[in-house]
Amino acid sequence: MAGNNVDLFVIGAGSGGVRAARVAASHGARVMIAEEHRVGGTCVIRGCVPKKLLVYASRFGHEFEDAAGYGWTVPDATFHWPSLIANKDREIARLEAAYTNTLERYNVSLVKSRAVVEGAHTVHLLSNEATVHAETILIATGAWPHMGPDIPGREHVISSNEAFHLEELPRRIVIQGGGYIAVEFACIFAGLGSEVTLVYRGENILRGFDDDVREHLRNEMRNRGITVTCGHTVAAVEKSGDEFVTRLSDRSTVISDKVMFAIGRRPNVMGLGLDKIHVKIHAHGGIEVDEYSRSSVPSVYAIGDVTNRVNLTPVAIREGHAFADTVFGGKPTPVDHTNVPTAVFSEPEVGVIGLTETQARERLVRLDVYKTTFRPMKATLSGRDTRSFMKLLVDGATDRVVGCHIVGPDAGELIQVVGIAVKMGATKADFDATMAVHPTAAEELVTLREKAMSYGRAAAE
Ligand SMILES: Cc1cc2nc3c(=O)[nH]c(=O)nc-3n(C[C@H](O)[C@H](O)[C@H](O)COP(=O)(O)OP(=O)(O)OC[C@H]3O[C@@H](n4cnc5c(N)ncnc54)[C@H](O)[C@@H]3O)c2cc1C
Repeated sequence: MAGNNVDLFVIGAGSGGVRAARVAASHGARVMIAEEHRVGGTCVIRGCVPKKLLVYASRFGHEFEDAAGYGWTVPDATFHWPSLIANKDREIARLEAAYTNTLERYNVSLVKSRAVVEGAHTVHLLSNEATVHAETILIATGAWPHMGPDIPGREHVISSNEAFHLEELPRRIVIQGGGYIAVEFACIFAGLGSEVTLVYRGENILRGFDDDVREHLRNEMRNRGITVTCGHTVAAVEKSGDEFVTRLSDRSTVISDKVMFAIGRRPNVMGLGLDKIHVKIHAHGGIEVDEYSRSSVPSVYAIGDVTNRVNLTPVAIREGHAFADTVFGGKPTPVDHTNVPTAVFSEPEVGVIGLTETQARERLVRLDVYKTTFRPMKATLSGRDTRSFMKLLVDGATDRVVGCHIVGPDAGELIQVVGIAVKMGATKADFDATMAVHPTAAEELVTLREKAMSYGRAAAE
């Protein structure tokens, strides 16, 4: 136990906080970490990990169907939601214990309590009303689902947090949102057999992604029976017996057994005492920090979703590690937030890195676009109506690949590897010089020879 005097106090034992605490301790710091909920944070308890387990579950149905074309007869398969949830919960508990053990192994003191900032060097623990003095305070409190304006019936609506703990699989579900979490849950529920209506206020899902990716995935989702309604919002939700009647902004209604909102997440800055010491909050709602994650108060740092920079687990982890190396390892380490590869675990998956075509056209003097859509080989015998999509964006002046966008099976795995090449500054000539692996879908990336489009500055303006 580090006592009430520590070198580092971390608020929040999620992806970023745990990494920062462990690395700071390995540099010799006396570290205390507070967690008000469960060790592991959003990613482990109610984010990436349980989500990916549900994604796996949701894909078996298609596999059973596709098997027929390959000569298999699969007897009528049935699905039992409570078994999936119980198994998932067991795995999450195992991971939570592993995270806790790691902290113990590194002699980090874990306090199961809400913690708030009291001064530039003091933290208050709500569980026992203790005050801890710390040379440095790290805010790693993450973010929380935002449920939007107070529309009638909002109390009936669940967020992704509750979706992981439903007692039964909803036969019909309405999901409002167009970001990756809404899209992933739409695909999960559809894959498990629910009738899904996705409602999004914008003109197309996955705002911020490349337009071709957005269009391609929307069509694929529709092919899989998901109703995608863009340009509308949920105006009200009414409970009628066991059902919910969702009224949309165009006055149409959808009847379902559950209504879920995934319309964004807000940094957890409220009630933390940050105003007391004048920690600056950025216009986007996160804690304002410099490249070393230092806030406007020199002894207070912030990492991860609470800073609202790039809200992904590997980024929070990298920021936590860099913070610890900077402050306790004598190695100032800024975090590079460019070219972060990312995936959407939809069906089919999306994997992207770098600029979208719109961004590239705005920023580059010359841009070459290479793209292809094709039927994945597995779909030939299975007869499944699906297409994959790949696009490379190449700086016409330097030949560097500045963007790669994939929709298709294992796109998340592919983009991790393509990400290395893009991060290293690979050129289109490097891609072309790489021998194909045949027969794979990924070979398309090294055999794209014909430009789909070329833009010069004059054309872009
Ligand atoms: C449904 C869903 C799916 C996701 N899928 C992916 C994915 O596939 N890939 C990916 O990279 N990212 C994904 N994310 C995002 C990812 O989970 C977050 O970016 C990541 O967890 C951020 O880590 P963090 O350390 O900033 O915060 P968190 O992991 O949220 O940890 C913050 C912790 O602080 C605790 N806390 C808050 N306030 C206090 C306080 N005052 N005192 C004590 N403790 C406090 C919280 O209880 C929490 O445990 C997903 C998120 C969601 C919601």
